[in-house]
Amino acid sequence: MSLSDIRQRIAAAERKADRPEGSVELVAVSKKQPDERVLSVLEQGHRVFGENRVQEAQGKWPAFREQFGDCMLHLIGPLQSNKARVAMELFDVIEVLDRPKLSKTLARLAQELGSCPDLLVQVNTGEEPQKAGILPADADAFIADCLALDLPIRGLMCIPPVEETPALHFALLAKIAERNGLDILSMGMSGDFETAIATGATHVRVGSAIFGERPTE
Ligand SMILES: *Cc1c(COP(=O)(O)O)cnc(C)c1O
Repeated sequence: MSLSDIRQRIAAAERKADRPEGSVELVAVSKKQPDERVLSVLEQGHRVFGENRVQEAQGKWPAFREQFGDCMLHLIGPLQSNKARVAMELFDVIEVLDRPKLSKTLARLAQELGSCPDLLVQVNTGEEPQKAGILPADADAFIADCLALDLPIRGLMCIPPVEETPALHFALLAKIAERNGLDILSMGMSGDFETAIATGATHVRVGSAIFGERPTE
């Protein structure tokens, strides 16, 4: 696989779903990938990336941005409150808003900094105890609370349970977004992004299918 293969598959999935070409944004998930693979994708002109650790992103993206200009960075892994300030300064989109304590911290920092990245609420559609995300039943109230704090909530994100049919989870996420008037749906990874596009994903987060398998240590 490569960047151009994935772009072609996204375009094909858009056509199949009767969606306008270019309506789905590809977030290239560069976590743990060797720099030379990320450089190659940057050199091909791609500018939207996802990272799951604040510290790792902090270590590599300032230099990439210096070399390649503006890149849109999405945080897609858990955010601890004590890293929130750094994350708000580094990322353009934080996809993992998943609890009231974090929303209060982000609201306070947004006041202080005078700006805030776009935010997505992570929903634990599979209600898995070990997984981050707000439970589906609590999502509407949580979104309302975040909006009342003036947070720029733009959409929702989910990671379906590995052993279940992703389409059901994607459909649930789409339903929650629709009834809350939210436009962005971040769903779908290397193994299921075409299904996600068929179910309304506006953003797909694809890592290994673009860059190759991540090194294990
Ligand atoms: C790692 C990761 C991805 C990308 O996974 P691939 O299977 O490599 O495409 C997408 N979303 C999240 C939240 C991730 O942590």
